[in-house]
Amino acid sequence: MVKNKRVIIENVLTVTMNEKNEIDEFTIIIEGEKISSLYKTGAGHTIKKKKNDYIIEGKHRIAIPGLFNGHVHSDITLARGLGDGLTLYEQDNDSFVSRKKWFRNELDREARYHSKLLQYVEAIKGGTTFLCDVPFWHYGDDLPGPFKRTGIKGAVVLDYRKDFLSGVEVEKEAYYDTAINLKENGYIPIVEGPAEETYDIKLLEKLMRRAEELDTFIQMHLAETTWRVKIIEKRFGKRPVMFLNDEGFLNRRVIGSHGVYLNDEEIGIIKDTGARIINCPTAEMKISDGIAPVVKLLRQSVPTGIGTDGALWNDSADMFSEMKSLMLLQRVTYGASSIDAYSCLYSATLGSARVFGLDHELGSIETGKRACIALIDFNKPHLVPVYNGKMSNVLQTIISCVRASDVDTVLVDGKIIVERGRLNTVDENELLHKCQEMGINRFRDLDFNA
Ligand SMILES: [Zn+2]
Repeated sequence: MVKNKRVIIENVLTVTMNEKNEIDEFTIIIEGEKISSLYKTGAGHTIKKKKNDYIIEGKHRIAIPGLFNGHVHSDITLARGLGDGLTLYEQDNDSFVSRKKWFRNELDREARYHSKLLQYVEAIKGGTTFLCDVPFWHYGDDLPGPFKRTGIKGAVVLDYRKDFLSGVEVEKEAYYDTAINLKENGYIPIVEGPAEETYDIKLLEKLMRRAEELDTFIQMHLAETTWRVKIIEKRFGKRPVMFLNDEGFLNRRVIGSHGVYLNDEEIGIIKDTGARIINCPTAEMKISDGIAPVVKLLRQSVPTGIGTDGALWNDSADMFSEMKSLMLLQRVTYGASSIDAYSCLYSATLGSARVFGLDHELGSIETGKRACIALIDFNKPHLVPVYNGKMSNVLQTIISCVRASDVDTVLVDGKIIVERGRLNTVDENELLHKCQEMGINRFRDLDFNA
């Protein structure tokens, strides 16, 4: 890993995501954790190189801001593929998944730890530099261990229960200790709010108070499915957004996950209260949740991001595939011109940075921002030609053609974590071997009909 040197990415086609939305060839200079300057190729700047500068060649590469994955359940990654063909309701109530209690025996502490590492490694190698993890079982795990080991940035949504199946609550002191430990290590602790089936005014009050005391966000699965919306209509006589708003639980601290069933009035309320939405297009297709009105949220400037969700719903953490899914789903619903490639990339960069209150330091490639950058190698049959003149196909290529495996270099806060496809922080072969063995030992002989 390169430390304490200037890193210079030379003459690289850069999608800045700055205010002017500049896409051009730049030389990017990184000092410490930040981008210290950005020079347009051919604009007459001479860059004085120093002996210790670390040079990255920009030829045949596109630089984009490091991607945000706004919603991941990483501790179940080893159960990849096992939720297939089921809706969320079936997974929760009547299936192999619910009978196996979400694989609580198979996903012991060691398996959960490796699930996280595997997910983070997949993410960072694919250009994700910030990930919001929503673990189902987090206590007893070594937070923020997997973040530190891989070098990825992120947030952790902390459940008030030891695990969601037992419902046993974590003691307040232990909860705060975990949250403060995360904060002190540079990660964002987020309070986990209840999903609709457990809405309760006292519980919501308690958790909102925690978010205020920790000065952070509260994340709630919000209006994801018709059955969850119906539960609230039946119990409180109104839809989830209306209920939360009427009871004073909708504000700028709230990050609503999924947000599939939002009507125009509810989108207006979300905008007015300053709440945010993270949508998971692939998961919502795969488990047949429905199609979220993302274009309407973006048009209203609601801070909106996207995420891949967990292994039982997606089952991949490829953010390029997620951006493409977002584009396709919006277009099939709202028309071919409803969402452009820029808006899809925005959702995974600056839009997500806004959701987590980080747009002043992340989400674009600009002087003064943290150097979180992914380089895409486009010298491949499924990507050429890439051009950027009077006519440009750069954004369209990123959204429609690039795959996570085309990312070959990733910087996080100025540190080169992935270099020419090689991960510098974790022994990838060892991890893959271990995860493959654990998968075989724990899942291969499970009886689907038991
Ligand atoms: Zn989720």
